[in-house]
Amino acid sequence: MHSLRPLLPSLFLLSLGGACAHHADTAAASSEAGEAPPADIRLYALDCGRIDVHDMGFFADGSHPNGQRGTMSVPCFLIQHPQGMLLWDTGLDDAISKSPDGVPDPVGPRYFVRATLQAQLARLELATSDVRYVGFSHLHADHAGNANAFFASTWLVQRKELEWATATPTPLGVDPAKFSAWRTAKVELLDGDRDVFGDGTVRIVSTPGHTPGHQSLQVKLAKAGTLVLSGDLCHLRENWAHDGVPGFNTSRQDTLTSMARVRTLVKDTHGRFVIQHVPEDFASLPAFPAYLE
Ligand SMILES: [Zn+2]
Repeated sequence: MHSLRPLLPSLFLLSLGGACAHHADTAAASSEAGEAPPADIRLYALDCGRIDVHDMGFFADGSHPNGQRGTMSVPCFLIQHPQGMLLWDTGLDDAISKSPDGVPDPVGPRYFVRATLQAQLARLELATSDVRYVGFSHLHADHAGNANAFFASTWLVQRKELEWATATPTPLGVDPAKFSAWRTAKVELLDGDRDVFGDGTVRIVSTPGHTPGHQSLQVKLAKAGTLVLSGDLCHLRENWAHDGVPGFNTSRQDTLTSMARVRTLVKDTHGRFVIQHVPEDFASLPAFPAYLE
């Protein structure tokens, strides 16, 4: 099995989640523009791994150990749009699935992958090459674990993120080998927000703080309304509710500013904020291959 070493530190950087705010209202027409989104957009939530954490306190404000164990979900999201497929985050490395008992991180956590991302895509009769865009909330190993499988896709990454993640020395939690295909893949370096399909339905929102080029994703669905996928904007419900910031984020101030921005976005769209590492948030979404539309 491949080296999991790179993952170790990532644990730290990961985020755990307590879930944040929950669901939202169902106001269907919640776009800023007031236009109803196309009815043929689907959002699938895929199980791209799990992290058993030895001390959840690490993700609390200031990262104060508390000795409490916990679990974090590691989802990936597939958005099916008339103009193509967008995969949001690529989860933990599929190679971890070869270790049913999980892969231990010397520092404490343990990583699991039950079903590979590629196998889940196959259930929809999709190959990795069918994915037009791959958006990375950030480049920590639990979000970029399968990046190289999408060498034929267009990667949507913040310029600051790629610069940071490929710097020397390698930042904690980053494994450059997992996304080494950036050198040959088509990479769109972003300097802020990006309306992916140009119709306002799928929008990358710049939310730096956890990492320098962290980003979140806003998706506007015809029936389910607006969802904002957190990335690791926050990992715990408590952090979202009380402006908690883990000590390992690259910028506390940027994190607070980004959380305030998304809070406004969620409020203005009557949206639903999904904290990716919070198991309850993941469980609240339709079980794959069911989807939201
Ligand atoms: Zn993470």
